[in-house]
Amino acid sequence: MSICKKRAFEVLERISFERIAGTDKELEAANIIKAECEKYGVEAHLESFEIDMPEVISASLEVLSPTPWKINCVGIGKSGNTDECGVEGPLCYIENAMDANILDVAGKIVLATGRISPEQMKKIYDKGAKGYILVAGSLYDPEEMIPEIRTGNARKKADEDYNLPGVIIHITDAEKLLRSYPETLRLCLKQDGDKKGTSHNVVARIEGTEKKDEIIAFSAHFDSVIYSSGAWDNGTGSITIMELMHYFLANPPKRTVEFIWCGSEEIGLIGSKDFVEKRKEELNKYLFNINVDMTGVLLGFEIAVCSCEEAVAKYIDYLGKIEGFPISTRVDMYSSDSSSFAIAGVPAVTFARIQPRGGAEIHSRRDAMKYLDPDAFIKTVEFMAKFSDNFVNAKVFPVSREMPKQLAERMEQMKKMFEQSKKKEEKETK
Ligand SMILES: [Zn+2]
Repeated sequence: MSICKKRAFEVLERISFERIAGTDKELEAANIIKAECEKYGVEAHLESFEIDMPEVISASLEVLSPTPWKINCVGIGKSGNTDECGVEGPLCYIENAMDANILDVAGKIVLATGRISPEQMKKIYDKGAKGYILVAGSLYDPEEMIPEIRTGNARKKADEDYNLPGVIIHITDAEKLLRSYPETLRLCLKQDGDKKGTSHNVVARIEGTEKKDEIIAFSAHFDSVIYSSGAWDNGTGSITIMELMHYFLANPPKRTVEFIWCGSEEIGLIGSKDFVEKRKEELNKYLFNINVDMTGVLLGFEIAVCSCEEAVAKYIDYLGKIEGFPISTRVDMYSSDSSSFAIAGVPAVTFARIQPRGGAEIHSRRDAMKYLDPDAFIKTVEFMAKFSDNFVNAKVFPVSREMPKQLAERMEQMKKMFEQSKKKEEKETK
C-alpha cells in the first residue's frame, strides 16, 4: 500500500484542533506528525524558532454619547498602548484608507473596513488620529460567531515604531456603530508587545538512492488560527505530504525527498523562512519546493501557483490534460510557504484545492471536517505523486533556477518585507 485515504483521514482527525503558532497545541500537533513519520521508520525531528507573541492584557471600545454602548473587541498586537483612561474622540469612517478617506482624521478614532498598508497607517498617525478600529467576520455570521474575533498584529514598517492603539471588532458591530451616529468613543488598550514564543517545524527525509545531495522539499504548514480546527487549512495539506512520504517509502526515490511541516505560517510564513535561513549555506542542494496549502474539500477546484519558470506551469497544465485531472495553473507568488523558498532562490510551486464562491471557509469555526471528502483528497494526492515522481526521478533535473521577469516585482516587495522583519529582529536582540 503506498497511498491511503483512510489512513490519511485518521491522521487528519487527530490533528484537527486549534493549533495556534507558539502554543502547546501547535507543539502537540508537531509531535503527532513526528510520531506518525517514525511509526513508518522515517526519522523526523523538530526544529524550534522564536516568534513574536504580543500579549494583549486588556482592550475595550465604547460609545460614550449619545447612547453609551460597549462594543466587543480584541486588541491589535504591537499597535500601541493607552493609559487607563484610554483615548477619546469622535468616529471617522475611512473605508479602505485612501488619501481622500483620511483628510480629516486629526483627534479622531478611525474605522477602516479595508486592508491598510503600513504607509497609509503611518499617514493616519502623522495626521493626528488617536486610535483605529478594523473589522473581521461577515455580516451573515450567526450570532454565536460575533464574539469570535481573530486578533492580528499591526502592520508597521520595520524602521518605524509609533504608538497608535488599534482594536478589531466584528463587521456586524461596525455596521451597528455607523448607524448609531456616535458622538464620542473611548478606546483603551494595554499590551506587552515585546513578548516572544517558540514555534516548531517538523522535518523528515528519505535519502535518495542515487543523488543524495539533490533534494526535493515538500512542505505544508500545520499551524492554524484561533476558533478554527484547521482541518482544511492546512490539516489537509499536512496529510497530503504525509501520503507523498508513503508514496516514496513504497517507491524509493533517486533524489532525496524532504518533508517539512511548517509552523507559524499563519503569522507570516515564519516557519518556512526559518527553514531556509538555517540552510542558507546549502540551499543549492534544494532543487525544488512542492508546497501544499489546502486540499480535499468536496466542492472545489484545483490550482497550482508556480513561483518559478513558466515551463513548470505549462507542464502541470499538460500533465493535467494527459491524466484527466482538471487543474488551472499560473505563474505568481502565493501567500504560503512556497514564497519563502522562491525568495531564497529555490523554484517553488503551491498546489491547492480551493472553494467555489459560497463554499467552504477558512480561519473560523467553519473550517471543519464535514466539508472535506477522502475521494476528492486522494485524487489530488495521486496527481501530485505522479507529478513529483517525474521530478524526483528525472534523469536530468529540468527546472532552472532562473525566476521569470513577471515575478520580479512581487518578489521584490515580499523580499523587502522579509528583510525588514529580519532587521527588526536583529535590532531587538541587540
Ligand atoms: Zn493555509
